[in-house]
Amino acid sequence: MLQFWTAVRKVPTWVFPAAIGLFVLVLPLLGPGYELTRQIELTLILALVVSGLNISLGYAGQLAVGQAAMYAAGAYTAGMLSSAGHTDLLLQIVAAGLAALLVGILTGIPGLRLGSWSLAMTSFFLVLLVPDIVDIFEEDTGGHLGLTTMLNPTLFGRPLAAEAMYYVIVIVTIIWFTVFRNVVASRHGIAFQVLKQSPVLASSVGMSVFRTKLIGYAIGAVPAGFGGALLANLDLFVTPESFTFHVATGVLAASILGGSMSVYGAVFGASIIQFNNDQSSNFAEYSLVFFGAFLLIGGVLLRGGVAGLLRTGIRRLDRAAGLWPRRPAGAASGGAADAVELPPIEAGALEVAEAAKAFGGNHALRGVSLRAEPGQVTALIGPNGSGKTTLLNLVCGFYRRDAGRIIVAGTAIDGASPHRIARLGVTRTFQTPLIPPGVSVAEVVVSGRYTSDEVGFLSAVLRGPKFRRVRRRDLARAEDMLRLVGLEHLSDTEAATLPLGQRRMLEVARALVREPKVLLLDEAASGLDETEVETLAAVIRRIRDAGCAVILVEHNFGLVLSLADRIVVLARGAVLAEGTPEEIENDVRVRDEYLGIVESGDAPAGEEAETLPERTAK
Ligand code: ADP
Ligand code: MG
Repeated sequence: MLQFWTAVRKVPTWVFPAAIGLFVLVLPLLGPGYELTRQIELTLILALVVSGLNISLGYAGQLAVGQAAMYAAGAYTAGMLSSAGHTDLLLQIVAAGLAALLVGILTGIPGLRLGSWSLAMTSFFLVLLVPDIVDIFEEDTGGHLGLTTMLNPTLFGRPLAAEAMYYVIVIVTIIWFTVFRNVVASRHGIAFQVLKQSPVLASSVGMSVFRTKLIGYAIGAVPAGFGGALLANLDLFVTPESFTFHVATGVLAASILGGSMSVYGAVFGASIIQFNNDQSSNFAEYSLVFFGAFLLIGGVLLRGGVAGLLRTGIRRLDRAAGLWPRRPAGAASGGAADAVELPPIEAGALEVAEAAKAFGGNHALRGVSLRAEPGQVTALIGPNGSGKTTLLNLVCGFYRRDAGRIIVAGTAIDGASPHRIARLGVTRTFQTPLIPPGVSVAEVVVSGRYTSDEVGFLSAVLRGPKFRRVRRRDLARAEDMLRLVGLEHLSDTEAATLPLGQRRMLEVARALVREPKVLLLDEAASGLDETEVETLAAVIRRIRDAGCAVILVEHNFGLVLSLADRIVVLARGAVLAEGTPEEIENDVRVRDEYLGIVESGDAPAGEEAETLPERTAK
């Protein structure tokens, strides 16, 4: 059994969906009969609609239930084109996809601007509005009686036989799922997952949150449009009954049950819903109850749906057969850092002048000024609540400052949005690491390169030469950075499952992969073991020597003394002292204010600090 599994795992993964696709394509030769053929046709159409929801909800995390409305937009576009004599099916499918895209964009903009619950509401109302809109345009749509004036479809000027619709549906589905898979595996797909994890994280790697959300939502609309055009031509009839709230719920149930965060899960989910829907009249009557039950099963019992179940099964078999982890797990290697080449960074200082920020009556920062020179480590220390993270958040643009100026490499960043500031060369790590679930270690690092070598959607879908060149470079750079931080042996592992120390180091790798001018490390060493702290210290020295301006927020005073060129001490939102490590170490006020607190157990105590490498001579 395990030998068989080992043999199966040698086959490239794309072969399996390709084989199923091929089988479905040649199925009519086996004479499956009308019933089964129709079931497959309807399942594939539903799978198209569901796949769109998988993109917008599963990958991009946008709570939207408007797929049924986009489906309707596609169906009516095709139906009206056909009634007007434009019978070419290809034309209709493309037009339907565009119409759905348009509806997606128009309804997405207000919903996404207002936040995720408003998107859920606007998309929900959109579905409820379908019959009314259809009635308003009764002359063209046939109103609630349905559109009955469709003509037989043609393809490239030739009439299309009724049986041929089957092939058209299968081929459109195969093409779309290939596109879907390619998008998901590209940096755009990873971008959706980064956004889903946290908008703050997304903008810190240079993604425009709104744009990424809108793209995810709009792209999800396109296959629903295709599905609509196919449905219309299957029956040569369009009725608002096909796009009710009922259908919307079925689509949601199929997505959750199949596994929203998966590509082929859409097909599983659609099959389960479609085949059950038709099996018994009872089911039709109580289908909302069934959908509810499916939602519960999918959402609660089978986290990750059928696709998740399959993934877990595959992982178990892999473990049993000794195929997992895919690379031998070696010890984290602190010494490999030197082997990695870090190209020199175009230098730029970070200047903060008189920055102030209050949260209500809480003055988190009151007139803080500091200057972080390129090629130097500027440590920012101070007790908890002294405003260190707030200062980093001002620099990154997540908080609007109340007063003061911030200048990155000569550019004032007044009022710029976080992703623009990120694009100026500012990157950071977070006090609580932000790592999206379901993404491999290597892909997490690649996501840091979102703004380097931009690759368009089309190029990612077609996997053209540019896409492949950039992809190779992305992976090579990611591997370098992983070697730098000592995680290269884990590159295939799911990143979110790593222990805290490794997730921190992974964040450092993600921040460095873009060759930042200014690197902000928020408590990067907390939770690291001794070897990891040494690796981190070595990495910080390397990036400093490459010309980066490093801001190190850290409680480990030993580490700070060994690394910093200058130290800025914050207390209650103001700069208490500033100077070289020697000056700070001997500053009486700092001893009283800060070190007393450190020693009393507020932060990692002296013991850990003593084991640290000595300050390197420069
Ligand atoms: P540090 O990183 O030095 O521990 P912070 O910058 O996180 O300190 O916090 C400084 C002060 O600002 C604290 O009093 C904290 O409660 C407050 N603060 C930080 N962020 C927010 C926020 N988003 N809303 C309200 N208060 C905040
Ligand atoms: Mg903090």
